[in-house]
Amino acid sequence: MPFTSLGLSEPICRALSDLGYSKPTSIQTRAIPVVLQGEDVIATAQTGTGKTASFVLPLLEAFQAKEPMRGKRVRCLILSPTRELAEQLHKNIQQYARYCDQSSMVMVGGVDSGPQKEALIKGVDFLVATPGRLIDLLHQRALYLDELEALVIDEADKMLDMGFIDDINRIIERTPEDRQSLLFSATMPPPVRQLAKSTMYRPKDISIDAQHRGADTVEQWLVAVDKDTKSTLLSHLIKENDWQQGLIFIETKHGAAKLAEQLGKRGIEAEAFHSGKSQASRERALEEFKAGKLPFLIATGIAARGLDIEALPRVINYDLPFDSDEFIHRIGRTGRAGAKGEAVSLLSLDDFKNLCAIESRLGHIIERREIEGFTPRKEVPISILNYQPKNKPKAKPKKDRAGKQGADFKPASKGRNKSSQNAWSKSSSTETSHQGEPSSRTYDSKKPKSKKPFNPWLK
Ligand code: AMP
Repeated sequence: MPFTSLGLSEPICRALSDLGYSKPTSIQTRAIPVVLQGEDVIATAQTGTGKTASFVLPLLEAFQAKEPMRGKRVRCLILSPTRELAEQLHKNIQQYARYCDQSSMVMVGGVDSGPQKEALIKGVDFLVATPGRLIDLLHQRALYLDELEALVIDEADKMLDMGFIDDINRIIERTPEDRQSLLFSATMPPPVRQLAKSTMYRPKDISIDAQHRGADTVEQWLVAVDKDTKSTLLSHLIKENDWQQGLIFIETKHGAAKLAEQLGKRGIEAEAFHSGKSQASRERALEEFKAGKLPFLIATGIAARGLDIEALPRVINYDLPFDSDEFIHRIGRTGRAGAKGEAVSLLSLDDFKNLCAIESRLGHIIERREIEGFTPRKEVPISILNYQPKNKPKAKPKKDRAGKQGADFKPASKGRNKSSQNAWSKSSSTETSHQGEPSSRTYDSKKPKSKKPFNPWLK
């Protein structure tokens, strides 16, 4: 599904295409239309799933035709638990808003607040802030939140873990009741649900369910390997691990026939299963496989659709599918009805883009294992969603392309610096109430002001 069918206009889609985003991730597909409708949203999504774009893009779209903000006013506030995440969010907004006429700024502690105050004078569309510095500048009347249209609480679980609940509530107190509220959290413990319940208006719940993640009973792992050693590695894995049975997925009919022959030469009984085979021979192979007489069936994706094999111990992706749905479908062949299963993928550099789509859809990185003697010459980069293409890719000699492509992908950074929690998170109880200048703006929100739920945190 292209981004345009989610209701995003040309300037935004152009920026996404510059970034190399070809299609929305699962959270984006689900969140963008809902946010565009002005609904409140509570979403379970981790960093790496594309969650930032899932709220920034629809908000950018919704703000397109709006008048510029008045001085010291903010249209959308994004609260982040850490400085590093705030900087990252701000960078993403700048990328997504490249062809839109909307301003953004980041406001974090640990740096001089002078330039931040100055930037606020004109009014800002997107403000990404950590709670402490924001409260500090609210006290100083460097900004007002009385015209806020959207509030995003990012990494809400982390925010609460870091003790920011009081700060969040103090900030919310200063915002209009008819704002749109979006809450993103990697996990949904009761305090996060409670925060959502008390501060949001009939939020739509968006979480990536088990079906999108793959069955929990399936152990998934992959091995990076050079394309020309895949079949040797597969034979090695079968023999070393004493695998008795497995359904092997491969891209082409020809590939299936060739692999069956290669395995056969190494004493491993396997049969190709694809649409080029007669119905009778497919039925026979399937029956033998189901009965455990044939240890390995090498199937093309299409042929394998609808195969229901009870107690299948493992599926092996000799090639990764182009479509992430197909991957989920494949791994769903094993681990059925709560039984344990294994999904092993052999990953060569050619498969990398497919891996990007799959991991983004699953919402997590699949565990990698190294097999001695099979370290690939062409390294396959880790992580998918950290794709940072150059804005103007230089023309590369054709033979070089496959190798260079991977170099654009940077490994995900691990962990964040907790030290960015600042003293204001504790001292903010001394805040003074401010008398904001009266707002000249009228709200067109559908939400009735009087229906704002009672917020027990504010008591
Ligand atoms: P996030 O979960 O928002 O931190 O995003 C993680 C990474 O995924 C960032 O580097 C984004 O640039 C990238 N990303 C987000 N959406 C997409 C997409 N639809 N296609 C490719 N990459 C994406």
